[in-house]
Amino acid sequence: MSFTVAIVGRPNVGKSTLFNRLAGRRLALVDDQPGLTRDRRETEVELDACTVTLVDTAGLESGDEGLTARMRQQTEAAVAQADLVLFLIDARTGVTAADEIFGDLVRSAGKPVVLAANKSEGRAAEAGFYEAFSLGLGEPLAISAEHGLGIGEVIDAIGHAVEARGETESRAEETDERTFKLRLAVVGRPNVGKSTLVNALLGEERMITGPEAGITRDAIASEIEWKGRPLRVFDTAGLRRKARVEGKAETLSVGDTLRAIRFAEVVVLLLDAEQPFEKQDLQIANLIAQEGRALVIAVNKWDLVRERQQRLAELREMCQRLLPQVKGVSLVTVSAKSGKGVDKLMDAVLAADEVWNKRLPTHALNDWLGAAVDAHPPPAPSGRRIKIRYMTQANARPPTFVAFCSMAQALPESYVRYLVNGLRETFDLPGVPIRFNLRKGK
Ligand code: GDP
Ligand code: GDP
Repeated sequence: MSFTVAIVGRPNVGKSTLFNRLAGRRLALVDDQPGLTRDRRETEVELDACTVTLVDTAGLESGDEGLTARMRQQTEAAVAQADLVLFLIDARTGVTAADEIFGDLVRSAGKPVVLAANKSEGRAAEAGFYEAFSLGLGEPLAISAEHGLGIGEVIDAIGHAVEARGETESRAEETDERTFKLRLAVVGRPNVGKSTLVNALLGEERMITGPEAGITRDAIASEIEWKGRPLRVFDTAGLRRKARVEGKAETLSVGDTLRAIRFAEVVVLLLDAEQPFEKQDLQIANLIAQEGRALVIAVNKWDLVRERQQRLAELREMCQRLLPQVKGVSLVTVSAKSGKGVDKLMDAVLAADEVWNKRLPTHALNDWLGAAVDAHPPPAPSGRRIKIRYMTQANARPPTFVAFCSMAQALPESYVRYLVNGLRETFDLPGVPIRFNLRKGK
């Protein structure tokens, strides 16, 4: 099982220097091929606990800042071949237009990425390091390929990616290729109606596409299409049938619930209208938020409810009060048995997915941050006011923000909540878990 790491970035950011630095760390250089063309160098490198194939995409004539079609092709080819992309920028120049183009290319490939801000050895690199967050490729590592700084962290990050792939492969037959299909799971306590709801979803689809569509009902994930949008639905019913065959208890275990949550991008938490928001329901909601998934709450068996208007208002109030970590989450009433409300539920699922994937521009975030801090300044423990200088969205799925802060440890949790609530309102991010990380700024 080989693992390929491609070093990618615009010309002159230091790819070859890093390649040589990593290759120099090898314990055994197994093979050093010049590659098929002179555009790509490959070598097998032994890093701490693993052996990886390292690919360098350097060697292209740069044509100054412009991005030639050929350069793009080469990078695309290297990325396609890679298990992990090591994306480099030059921290001294900051994020350039060419970096953004490469960044988009890497992001759209959907491969794991380690972002590194190279040439970070001096103070001139600080601003560029902060800017690197705005690429939306996660948190950058500050490194200096030339001076050998931060190389250990790069090796660790590669090691983690190798491990993560091992785990993914052992689950491969369940998850298949993680394509653009939205992955959906329905979870909830026993007897709330999960199987009935999943059957309703799959059943309607069967009527639309006919039997020849080949829906494999035994698979753990079933494919359906909802209003032209392909979905993979984690089929709890399938799980249960399997459990029955194997003579296990029929209820879903915590492990199964967690598995369903991890499989999914959007999770529908199904409640029983007659016993909503029980302790176990709240625990599952918490798990979904912790795992960073988009959430929709569906209250099932609505056919059994009288005084519906009033009951709905009560449920909405409970939802806001009991689940502040996913403020604004959609609550939809359904009757899985008759299929009533399923349409609205699926609209809510698609909307939640959109929020979950949202990316906000850095300048808008910083305009907002300035105003939020002015309106309600952070505290000044021991006489010095905490300053929050800059923020950016480091990641989507779920929305993840990073802010740079003096005395980050001293900023109270309540202030972070104030910022998160403000972000939610201003940028319309209802119902998704929001991650907000503080970093020590200068
Ligand atoms: P590539 O085109 O991306 O492969 O970039 P190279 O590896 O050829 O490096 C471009 C230039 O940046 C060379 O002059 C390197 O010496 C220099 N360079 C590479 N890494 C660093 C670094 O960590 N700090 C500084 N200051 N310069 C670096
Ligand atoms: P699961 O354990 O969550 O998968 O729940 P099931 O789908 O097996 O449903 C549990 C029970 O609730 C079954 O008896 C269903 O017929 C019943 N049920 C499911 N959906 C509805 C509904 O919309 N209305 C009513 N009245 N009963 C339902």
